Amino acid sequence: MEQERRQAVAAGLAERKLDALLVAFSPNLRYLSGFTGSNGNLLLTPRRSILFTDPRYRIQSAQETTCEVRVVKGPLAVAIGAAIAKLGLRRIGYEPVRMTCDLFDSLKAKLPMRASLEPCPAPGEKGAAAGWIEDLRMVKSAAEIERIRRSVDTNSRAFEQVVARVKPGMMESDLAAELEYRMRRLGAAKPAFETIVAGGARSAWPHAQPTAARLQTGGLVVVDMGAMQEGYASDMTRMLYLGVPGAKVKRTYRAVLEAQLAAIDAVRAGASTARVDAAARKVLQGYGLDRAFIHSTGHGLGLEIHEPPRIGKRDKTRLQAGMAITIEPGVYLEGFGGVRIEDTVVVTERGCEILTPTGKDLRVI
Ligand code: ZN
Ligand code: ZN
Repeated sequence: MEQERRQAVAAGLAERKLDALLVAFSPNLRYLSGFTGSNGNLLLTPRRSILFTDPRYRIQSAQETTCEVRVVKGPLAVAIGAAIAKLGLRRIGYEPVRMTCDLFDSLKAKLPMRASLEPCPAPGEKGAAAGWIEDLRMVKSAAEIERIRRSVDTNSRAFEQVVARVKPGMMESDLAAELEYRMRRLGAAKPAFETIVAGGARSAWPHAQPTAARLQTGGLVVVDMGAMQEGYASDMTRMLYLGVPGAKVKRTYRAVLEAQLAAIDAVRAGASTARVDAAARKVLQGYGLDRAFIHSTGHGLGLEIHEPPRIGKRDKTRLQAGMAITIEPGVYLEGFGGVRIEDTVVVTERGCEILTPTGKDLRVI
């Protein structure tokens, strides 16, 4: 799997006038090599794939990757510079948004005279939504989709197990802890991000962290959670209501649900991400709530919880079959609360498959 990906990158070096690509960003490193350690760099040339890491990862790297492995004592940049000199490489592509200044500087100092570091993608390069490898990662293989599906299932099962036991008086942090415990028991390696649980007026904070506050009767509760399983993320938001929801809660919820369904309906191969975003915004406009929708409609996910494409107002990416994205419009009203509904979906030729099995009615407790 990783070997085919490396071949695709190696084949693209010539058109970019590069002799090699140096990959330092760990999700891209994992994508191309299988290596999951925290310290590694991959030097890809048309013929060689050399993974540089330190002695802590000697055993692990041998098991995880089919690349040549160089176990280096001391700074990796020294060994990378030496390899570049030995292989006679001149133009080395690197990922400017992903490489630290520190690594860049030390590499530059170790490069042979005639070698240069070239930003990749080049400034102004057409068609690149993000980085070269990020663009490749946007469209998932069938095996990747299956991993995302399993991650989504674990996440939804954890939600169902825990939500059945939610009661007024429970602390937000306890609810978050239960969700994360359950997802691990069901097969997740860890949460894909810090679980969001926020009750009452704080549900209007899109990225609220759980506190010791107790869930109160008569309040909305937002639960935004994701699992990281077999290296792949899932992402879901559901709303709970403790007590009997009033007219404003019901109307706000209906507006967001309609917006979410409209955006899902707009998803298909060939559609631009801006169109999907516009579909959600148009519904909220009809309710006079569009100005309370303060973020984009969704994002790609995979090895990372947030990865390209972004599904926002100004995003022109054309959706392709096999992209895994979230659809998550939300409305945030200060002093009242927020509503967000989020599913993970996979783009297909004629629409999308909604992976998230969890029902979308407001959970009244
Ligand atoms: Zn989320
Ligand atoms: Zn999300």
